[in-house]
Amino acid sequence: MVLVCKFNIVGKGVIIKTEEEIELLRLSDLMVSETLALMGEILKPGVKSIDLDKKAEEYIRDNGGIPSFKGYEGFPASLCISINEAVVHGIPSDYEIKDGDIVSIDCGVYKNGFHGDAAYTFAVGDVDEDTMELLRATNESLYLGIEMAVVGNRVGDIGYAIQHYTEKQFGFGVVREMVGHGVGRDLHEDPEVPNFGRRGRGIKLKENMTIAIEPMVNMGTKRVKVLRDGWTIVTRDGKPSAHFEHSLVVKKGKPDLLSDHKIIEETIKNNINIKNLK
Ligand code: MG
Ligand code: MG
Repeated sequence: MVLVCKFNIVGKGVIIKTEEEIELLRLSDLMVSETLALMGEILKPGVKSIDLDKKAEEYIRDNGGIPSFKGYEGFPASLCISINEAVVHGIPSDYEIKDGDIVSIDCGVYKNGFHGDAAYTFAVGDVDEDTMELLRATNESLYLGIEMAVVGNRVGDIGYAIQHYTEKQFGFGVVREMVGHGVGRDLHEDPEVPNFGRRGRGIKLKENMTIAIEPMVNMGTKRVKVLRDGWTIVTRDGKPSAHFEHSLVVKKGKPDLLSDHKIIEETIKNNINIKNLK
């Protein structure tokens, strides 16, 4: 999660990681993925989003990590939990999750000096088919973007793949104000990785750059606004929004995923309260 106008990327330039640093990042991302999997286990109608946050923080701290988001620019919680028309940066609260809600959970873990960062949108109970299509398309666009994250391509190739798929094929709206980012010792490093763009444009991707790709896709208008809490970003038209995020290493031919959505999807399969994407 990077809100261009709120979070400034650190601006140290792109930092290429060593193999040792990449293995530390992988550990942080593993904990992020495990935390999201835990959320996929306990999510059901009636659960308060604040309770999810408490469980996540407990899990992270019990395993020697620190929630990256807590206190970040003053953010008050460990997870960003953004429900239905909320795009990102939702603050966990007493809101009870209802049957038919979509719940986007973004998690960051700091451990051994490095941040892991990933997100997943969960469909709770009887989510309507149009919204399921939004979730599937957003998730698929993430992998189309990931395929482009190889040595020799440019950042614009990633954004183009995501935007072309979700906007041209489905007529959805890709959020412009927030973008993916480099990730490492800082949660948000250079470069910015927009979910829109033009092929062949932007900086060249180099081996062992570590980036987070995170399409935020709205069913209706791409336009968003910030709620009075100063954090929660919602769609302007009140229609739902989905958010999926992976952290990865740029490599030749095929990127190396640091976060693991498979373990999240395995737990969803065993939770009758969550609808599978596939
Ligand atoms: Mg994130
Ligand atoms: Mg991120």
